[in-house]
Amino acid sequence: MREAEPTRISRRQLLAMAGLSAGTTLLARRPLFAKDEGIVPAMVNAAAKAKISVHPIRRNISVLEGSGGNIAVLTGRDGKLLVEAGFAVSRPAISSALTSINSDPIRHLINTHWHTDHTDGNAWLHSEGAAITAHENTRKRLSIATRVEGWDWTFPAAPAGALPVTVFAAEHEMRRNDTRITLKYYGPAHTDSDISVHFTDADVIHVGDTWWNGVYPFIDYSTGGSIDGQIRAAEANLAVITSKLIVIPGHGPVGGRSDVAEFRDMLVAIRENVAVLKKQGKSLEETIAAKPTATYDAKWGQFLITPAHFTGLVYAGV
Ligand SMILES: [Zn+2]
Repeated sequence: MREAEPTRISRRQLLAMAGLSAGTTLLARRPLFAKDEGIVPAMVNAAAKAKISVHPIRRNISVLEGSGGNIAVLTGRDGKLLVEAGFAVSRPAISSALTSINSDPIRHLINTHWHTDHTDGNAWLHSEGAAITAHENTRKRLSIATRVEGWDWTFPAAPAGALPVTVFAAEHEMRRNDTRITLKYYGPAHTDSDISVHFTDADVIHVGDTWWNGVYPFIDYSTGGSIDGQIRAAEANLAVITSKLIVIPGHGPVGGRSDVAEFRDMLVAIRENVAVLKKQGKSLEETIAAKPTATYDAKWGQFLITPAHFTGLVYAGV
């Protein structure tokens, strides 16, 4: 884990970023985040304790689950190619999970976007021999100190070795281990750096945090994300996902087209509910109290992003 700066945000700033007016007592009663310690330390602590599970997906592709975003692994004579790096604190667990697949060396790493739960392990993977590829905005965000208001956290610039060396703007094609890999930029979605990674011959696609399977997504307005961008990316996914394509989400279990459609439908319905309430002039506090996510909470509200937090993320963008 790169060292994070201690939080120095004022209550007024915190209220402002949550879309609340100063003077509301919402924060006193209800924490904005799922865990009192904050989302970033909660994610790191979870990764530190997590066992990494290995799921063979199809052909020479597996998924490692347990450290931040889902990690895809493509094996073969060109060495292992990883999509996502997890948290650095998971290095020993990820190393042994990779060794349990086979002894191919680590040669490549692709980041689907700049967030720490997908890039924190970049430095150690690079030190093991991985050349890093990502969207140009991932490099840009990692190169400088970057604040994520929704996580109440500022990340310092990443060390040189953690930065992607190959970057692109719209689309990039690679061939590794006899597999064609197409990388495609979504445009501003969950952040402004999201790409899909499509293993075209294997019919497997990693869509990063444009899809959270079964849990409310985080949306990073600080670095170009929005609810509408998140919905646009879900539509873009549905436009390319066939019934035979296996889809790896940023978070949650691997799934397919109908699961992605359910996620899109949830986003659209909650966006509509929140937009109606905001149009009526309701404050964020009143909107949260109206429970615009209620029909979805039992299924989607059980992870880091609580119903209240997700309502705030939608409210900020409608
Ligand atoms: Zn993310």
